[in-house]
Amino acid sequence: MNSAKWGFQTRLIHAGEPIPKVEGAVVLPIFQSSTYLFGGESRYEDLRYIRLNNSPNHRALHEKLANLEGGEAGLAASSGMAAISTALLSLVGSGDHILAQSGLYGGAHDLLTRDFPELGIESDFFDAADPKDLERLLRPTTRLVYVESISNPLMRVPDFEAIVDFTRRHGLAAVVDNTFPSPFNFRPLEWGFDLALHSATKYLNGHSDVVAGAAIGSRERIESMNRKLIHFGGCLDPHACFLLQRGLKTLALRVQHQNASAQCVAEALSAHPAVESVHYPGLDSHPERPRAARFFRGCGGMLSFELKGGAETADRFMKRLQLAAIAPSLGGVETLVTRPAATSHSGLSASDRERFGIGDGLIRMSIGIEDAEDLLLDLQGALKEL
Ligand code: PLP
Repeated sequence: MNSAKWGFQTRLIHAGEPIPKVEGAVVLPIFQSSTYLFGGESRYEDLRYIRLNNSPNHRALHEKLANLEGGEAGLAASSGMAAISTALLSLVGSGDHILAQSGLYGGAHDLLTRDFPELGIESDFFDAADPKDLERLLRPTTRLVYVESISNPLMRVPDFEAIVDFTRRHGLAAVVDNTFPSPFNFRPLEWGFDLALHSATKYLNGHSDVVAGAAIGSRERIESMNRKLIHFGGCLDPHACFLLQRGLKTLALRVQHQNASAQCVAEALSAHPAVESVHYPGLDSHPERPRAARFFRGCGGMLSFELKGGAETADRFMKRLQLAAIAPSLGGVETLVTRPAATSHSGLSASDRERFGIGDGLIRMSIGIEDAEDLLLDLQGALKEL
């Protein structure tokens, strides 16, 4: 599909969809067949088999993902962590070194600090919002820099230009987890990143009913990742591909609503006397507010905040909410709240959490698509006489 001609919303609907339509079906059906007739393919990865990530559902989804992130090729994986681990292992091996943002999603942080060292892969962590330590931490074995475009859970925004410039000067790969903004709000490949990764479980699917991952980049990088994904076995099932492709079609509608509601909620929380601090890149109090305004179309549906009173008060508050459900994960149509120290970041040591500024009382909120006025009423009710 000619991307230059059509707007983002149009591409969400039409990019990657087969022409002509299969059997005239307006929606691409689910191809629930593990294998396909041998057609004389000469390369292993061209054999048609679900684990080789090439069913009609995979092919349509890959093209849509690539189109939306502005990359040459896309690849779906069985989870965000499958996408992250496989992408990184297509770029580094034993003896190599990674420079990663401090304060990442807990799973990614644990992967780098617990699992990768067992494979002989070391990592150092740097402040991505102010990456002045990069040169000092660089080693001859450094292969890539890894950041989140809005960090989980403190919503920090990296200095994208300095990071890309550093990777270019030293011949490293620039890899970004773009889960929080989603390609509606930010397209990192357009700013020089080499590989954009997603927990497609979150905004891309958007309905909290699929676990999936995605990677988008140059054809060469995606093919190299696909070779690893085929052997590690982290393929996405065609039914999940179908659901993800369906979810993607409403990405812009959902995220526009979530951008606006999160801004209202962040402002209301900031003004509330029971609230100690609010982390949202759309607030003037956020340390990277000018950067967010420059790079992002909207600041997304994720925010975090601390109440006066710490973890116990936070738990009491969350239990009093009527609309927002207490659950990990994010990016769906239902508003969710969680305390990262007890869920997404519980794998980190208490000292690491403290070092990264993830307090025990920090509440992370994923804004859904309910009416913003109702979310505000729910929050205000739960904050009353805490
Ligand atoms: N990246 C980010 C920013 C996340 O928040 C998460 C999960 O919460 C992941 C990656 C991992 O995704 P998944 O749970 O789909 O493996």
